[in-house]
Amino acid sequence: MICEMCGKKSEWIKTVFIEGTELKVCKECSKFGESADGTGSHAKKNAASAPVSRAVVNERLEARERRMRTRDVYKDMDTSEDLIPDYASVIKDARRARNMKQEDLAAKLNEKATIIAKVENGDMLPSDSLVKKLEKELGIKLTEKVSSIASSSSASGGKTLTLGDLIKKG
Ligand SMILES: [Zn+2]
Repeated sequence: MICEMCGKKSEWIKTVFIEGTELKVCKECSKFGESADGTGSHAKKNAASAPVSRAVVNERLEARERRMRTRDVYKDMDTSEDLIPDYASVIKDARRARNMKQEDLAAKLNEKATIIAKVENGDMLPSDSLVKKLEKELGIKLTEKVSSIASSSSASGGKTLTLGDLIKKG
């Protein structure tokens, strides 16, 4: 077993509550927490915890959080879905390709035909729910991921091959 707090391998693992989080920890770390089953000398609530051990607890919990966070870097990326600029023609083309009239499409989507007409003319932005329905019904993609770090990552990613590199390879 691996201690969830310090990350060390330990034969002796105990489930304790530390700062309200259930953790499986080694003997060394278990003294920082409250035993899960409510027994033991550390079960007492608000047991006077020395400031020193408190700092250690926080430090180790932070380290644990960092370990867990590194795997989810991309979840925190600031991405959002934006409507593509030519959504109107994409919808129109997809509908025509399926031999559907605006009325047919509207009926399938439970929308008014005038709404479809306005969207196809670019007079109206489809709502999020309409976008989803259109994408599903027509099998098209009307949004694109916009990432705020896209430009910086592409700038730093991979060095560009120079003419010299190409000559060496050839
Ligand atoms: Zn430990």
